[in-house]
Amino acid sequence: MSDWRRELSLENVTAARAAIAGIAVETPLVPSPFLSSMAGMEVLLKLEIAQPIGAFKIRGAANAISVLPGDCPGVTCCSTGNHGRGVAYAARARGLRAVICMSELVPEAKVEGIRALGAEVRIIGRSQDEAGKESRRLVEEEGLAEIPPFDDPLVIAGQGTIGLELLDSRPDLETLLIPLSGGGLAAGIALAAKARKPGIRVIGISMDRGAAMYEAMQAGRNVAVEEVPSLADSLGGGLGADNRLTLPLCRDLVDETVLVTEEEIYRAMQCHYYEDRIVCEGGSAVGAAAMLAGKLPSMKGPAATILSGRNLDMKMHADIMAGRAVRLGDLTLEGQPYHA
Ligand SMILES: *Cc1c(COP(=O)(O)O)cnc(C)c1O
Repeated sequence: MSDWRRELSLENVTAARAAIAGIAVETPLVPSPFLSSMAGMEVLLKLEIAQPIGAFKIRGAANAISVLPGDCPGVTCCSTGNHGRGVAYAARARGLRAVICMSELVPEAKVEGIRALGAEVRIIGRSQDEAGKESRRLVEEEGLAEIPPFDDPLVIAGQGTIGLELLDSRPDLETLLIPLSGGGLAAGIALAAKARKPGIRVIGISMDRGAAMYEAMQAGRNVAVEEVPSLADSLGGGLGADNRLTLPLCRDLVDETVLVTEEEIYRAMQCHYYEDRIVCEGGSAVGAAAMLAGKLPSMKGPAATILSGRNLDMKMHADIMAGRAVRLGDLTLEGQPYHA
């Protein structure tokens, strides 16, 4: 596996912090009295939901875009989710054209969300693969720069700025709970936080269905996972056939990985809403889900969990808050009204 140390160090994250200032915001770190009392230790929430696009991915995108030359004809990616939003926003902030490629299957609300951020949306084919091909064509034929969602040193360094903010505000943090998908978020935060404080414990958390990084870390190599609908939809997807950085980084720097069920995520979203008064997407709630399910028995405090995004369908959010059943593809997740 690659020696990531040749490409990434604390300096890259420090440089990213300066590069993204003015586009991404330094987000609040706030106490959760409820989770603290449940866990028997201080638990803090890092509110990446307060970013201008409602998710942390603006950090990596802004950093990757910051190094492009002034005469760059634009940027592209094929994400329908938070990465697409981050690329669209950061490109507009730099005055660059952004072309986000998506398949015909993407819901209209997501398409409109990206357009509203000033990007061009190109709808191509019936799969993410075909959308990806169009993105590569734009790179080859029109000279646009592709901004990768996680496996890229500038993207990882951008996400890592969260680690610097966490330890600036609370040098006494002992544990970080980080939603884990492609691993850019966990790798970046772990890199920065461990450079500052080697003993800090980093725990990556995924849903138990289709957890690509978890499976790859267990197997010691990239393995294909089936993508299934989940409340934590922003944690879905594979690592890419030629993963170069995030798998070795997570293998070396993430101390533990934990999986949570859809029911546990459902309850954690209710808990963030009713107790913390916060709206967040399923991918954000996995830290609380693991805590509330008793899956972190040896956790030490103070601990921080990253609320990574809040971009979800508000109708689904309302259903979950009311304790109603929700449909996830072929699966119906039974509802459960919230009780503390
Ligand atoms: C992308 C994303 C993640 C996971 O980040 P990776 O770098 O892919 O591990 C977690 N939460 C939200 C809200 C996201 O958009």
